[in-house]
Amino acid sequence: MKQILWFRRDLRVNDSEILANAKDEVLPIFIFDKDILEKLSKDDKRVTFIYQSVLKLKKELKDIGLDLAIFYSTPVEVFKSLQKDGFDEVLASIDYEQYSIRRDNQIEQIVSMRRFLDSFILKPHTHTKKDKTPYKVFTPFYKSLNYIWESEALQEFETPKNLKKIEFDYETIPTLEEMGFEKQGLPEFLNKSADELIFDFSQKISDYQEARDVFYKDGTSNLAVHLRFGLISPRQVFNKIKKLRAPQGQKDFYIRELFWREFYNYILFHFPKSETQNFNGIKINWRNDENEFKAWCEGNTGVPIIDASMRYFNQTGTMHNRLRMIVSSYLTKNLLIDWKWGERYFASKLLDYEASSNIGSWQWAASTGADSVPYFRIFNPYLQSAKFDKEAIFIKKVIPQLKDIENKLIHTEGGVQSNLFVDYPLSIVSISYSRDRAIKEFKRANSKE
Ligand SMILES: Cc1cc2nc3c(=O)[nH]c(=O)nc-3n(C[C@H](O)[C@H](O)[C@H](O)COP(=O)(O)OP(=O)(O)OC[C@H]3O[C@@H](n4cnc5c(N)ncnc54)[C@H](O)[C@@H]3O)c2cc1C
Repeated sequence: MKQILWFRRDLRVNDSEILANAKDEVLPIFIFDKDILEKLSKDDKRVTFIYQSVLKLKKELKDIGLDLAIFYSTPVEVFKSLQKDGFDEVLASIDYEQYSIRRDNQIEQIVSMRRFLDSFILKPHTHTKKDKTPYKVFTPFYKSLNYIWESEALQEFETPKNLKKIEFDYETIPTLEEMGFEKQGLPEFLNKSADELIFDFSQKISDYQEARDVFYKDGTSNLAVHLRFGLISPRQVFNKIKKLRAPQGQKDFYIRELFWREFYNYILFHFPKSETQNFNGIKINWRNDENEFKAWCEGNTGVPIIDASMRYFNQTGTMHNRLRMIVSSYLTKNLLIDWKWGERYFASKLLDYEASSNIGSWQWAASTGADSVPYFRIFNPYLQSAKFDKEAIFIKKVIPQLKDIENKLIHTEGGVQSNLFVDYPLSIVSISYSRDRAIKEFKRANSKE
C-alpha cells in the first residue's frame, strides 16, 4: 500500500486519525495552496503561523521516522504530478466549507481519497433527533450528547509504529518570501504550544465562568487558533481539561463552550446553505451603507468600545469573544449591515477563523441563525463597556488619546465627543434611534414568515 498523507488543518502527530489509518509506505505532504494564498494580503498573520506550524510538524514527523514534503502550488497540480508515482490513495481530513468540498471533488478525479473528520469530536452525520432530523437548537443538541461529555476521557488515535517513509525530495521548502508573504509578528500566546496554553489555563480555570467575559483580563484558554489548525485535537483538549485539578463546574462549563464549536460545525454540515443564506430564512432589508461599514472596519464609529475592538483586531488578528458579540451586534442591528459583510471581514483577518464558528456566530448575532439571540435583545455598547471594562483599561490601552478622559464619559453616548480637546470621530449613528429602527425592521421581517 502506498499512501499520500495530506495534512491540511491537522498539523500534529499525536491523536491523528490520518496517521492512525496509514499503512506501509507513506508520503506525508503539506500544500501551500496558491488558490487560497493568492486571495490573502501579504501581511496575513495566519500564513506566518501556519508556516511555523508546518515546520514544527515536519520536525515531529521526522522524530517518528517520517518526513513532510512541502509544496507551493495548487492541489490539482500537485496530485497530477504525484499521479505517475502510483499511489493507492490519499488520506486527509474533512472540511465542510464550499471551497474545500469543491477542491476535494476535483482531487478525487485524480486519485482515490479517504477523508476523516478529525478536527471535531462529533461526526455530524451520525447524530440526529429521534425523528431523524438534525438538531437546530444548542441546548437539546448538547444534552443529547451527554454520553460524550459525561465520559472521563475520549479515545485518542495511535500512530502505527511500522510506517515507511517513501523516498522523495523533502528538502525543498518554499520560503514565506518566495510565496509572496512577509513574516509577521504574532500575539505572544501564539508562540506557545497547546500544552503550554493548557498549563497557563490550569492556573485560571477556577475563575473561568466569571472571567471569560472580562475582556481586559486574560481569562480564557486562548486555544482557538491551535484548535483551528489542529495543533491539538478537540479530543486531546477534552481529555486534558477533564484531568485538571479544578472545580467540576468550571470544567463542565469549559467543555460546554467546546461543544459550541461542535454545534456550529454540525449546523454547517446539515445546512450548507447557511454559509451564504439566513439560516431562518427571514429577509431583512439591510441598509448596507458602505461608509458606515468602512467606519466599523477601521474603528472610527465614534463608539469607544467598538472602535477599540476593531482597531485591536486590525492590529493583532484577535478579538475577545465578548467584544466579537458587541461589534457584531452593533454592525447587524445598529447599522443594519448584512452579517455576511462582517463575517467576510472577520474571515479576512481572524487568526482563529473557522468558517463554521464564524458563520454560526455571525448568524447568532444577526438573529438570523440557528438558536440566535432574539432580535429585540440588542447590546447597548456603552452599557457593555461600563459593565465589563469599568475602568476603561482595554479601551485606553488601544486608544491612548482617551487616556485622560473620565471613564464615565467613555461609557456615555457622546461623552468623549463632549470634550473639545480630544480629536475623536463623531458617532455615526444614535444608539437608541438605530436600536428602534432595527427592532422595527426585524419585527417586519419576522412577521412575514
Ligand atoms: C461574531 C463572532 C465570530 C466568531 N468567530 C469565530 C471563529 O471564526 N473561530 C472560532 O474558533 N471562534 C469564533 N467565535 C467564538 C469565540 O469568540 C472564540 O472561539 C473565542 O473567543 C476563542 O478564544 P478562546 O480559545 O480563548 O476561548 P475559550 O473561552 O477558552 O473557549 C474554549 C474553546 O471553545 C470554543 N468556543 C468558545 N466559544 C465559542 C463560540 N461562541 N462558538 C464556537 N466555539 C466557541 C473555541 O474553540 C474555544 O477555543 C466567534 C464569536 C463571535 C461572537
